Amino acid sequence: MTKALVNIDSVTGGEGACAEFLRQTLAARQFEVELQPVSPGRSNVLAFRGTPEVVLSTHIDTVPPFFPAREDAEWIYGRGSCDAKGIVAAQVTAAERLASDGMDDFGLMFLVGEETVSDGARAADAAPRGAKYIINGEPTGNKLALGTKGILQVDIRTRGRAAHSAYPELGESAVEKLLDILADLRKMPLPRDPVLGASTANIGVISGGRAPNVVPDEAEARVLIRTVTDSAELRHRIESLLGGRCEFVFVRDTPMLRMEKLDGFDTSVVAFSTDLPSLTRWGRPLLLGPGSIAVAHTDHECIRKEDLVHAVDLYCQLVNQLKKTMNDELAQHSAISHQHSAKQAKKMNPQIAQITQIQEKE
Ligand SMILES: [Zn+2]
Repeated sequence: MTKALVNIDSVTGGEGACAEFLRQTLAARQFEVELQPVSPGRSNVLAFRGTPEVVLSTHIDTVPPFFPAREDAEWIYGRGSCDAKGIVAAQVTAAERLASDGMDDFGLMFLVGEETVSDGARAADAAPRGAKYIINGEPTGNKLALGTKGILQVDIRTRGRAAHSAYPELGESAVEKLLDILADLRKMPLPRDPVLGASTANIGVISGGRAPNVVPDEAEARVLIRTVTDSAELRHRIESLLGGRCEFVFVRDTPMLRMEKLDGFDTSVVAFSTDLPSLTRWGRPLLLGPGSIAVAHTDHECIRKEDLVHAVDLYCQLVNQLKKTMNDELAQHSAISHQHSAKQAKKMNPQIAQITQIQEKE
């Protein structure tokens, strides 16, 4: 299935055929399937069995350029093999296994647009379905990610006065102003977090000036910080550093995110961002997937077949464990409520009331 998915070109903006393939695949496996329109010709694919208390989710779009699948004994190659079509295949296979084991009340959700603006995730978040947990799939080397760093991007522009470079005193250099500002920014200490580690800053784009013999009247830089704490305090410090010295605008602020930890899984921390910050109404987040982020987005993107098979086991194990946690919590609540007052519990939650009634009979 990974190869079939890779061979359908679904570079962000053209996910229609891939969504239709998954709709048919999942309908044939007795899932209740829904195409959720995001923009003309583009839809998320939602597939449920009962109420989706636990949802396995990833994205179906890829970065450009498209290139088709090939394989050898150990690996599958091709655009999206690692990020994230191998993951789609692993989640579908896990869902099939769970269903044949008699599991219900879970679902699958495959989103468009993750590689650009997460418009698929935002469309899904506008219509939540009562999920308690969402297991997002991105290449984490099959480890449970404890957190993802956030993104704070600031675009900076300085202005000066052009002059003949033989008479610099007649002008004012926008480039030198910008260099001073960037030097100060680089000296600014960035927050650390015990779990997520250090914040890092990248001056990704810098431009300015007109000619070697002209004092530059304009310059700009685009700086992106991978954040590990709430960004408010950092924004404030950047504002006081830059205020009055240049024009600047925060063009992106995606929060860092902490995920659920579960016993029995290897864990890691990842620096990349996912759809999860845009999926705030789909339950508590978990992040796990096969493959290495180091080959994602490259011209040698690939995934090890063995890792895909292992991921199927891990997804089944995760769903089972989360459902068990939910049942335990429900039972615990009901025991406490029962001590208090069974009547009150009845008002609070019909499911708890049901368990309480069973206990009363016993
Ligand atoms: Zn991805």
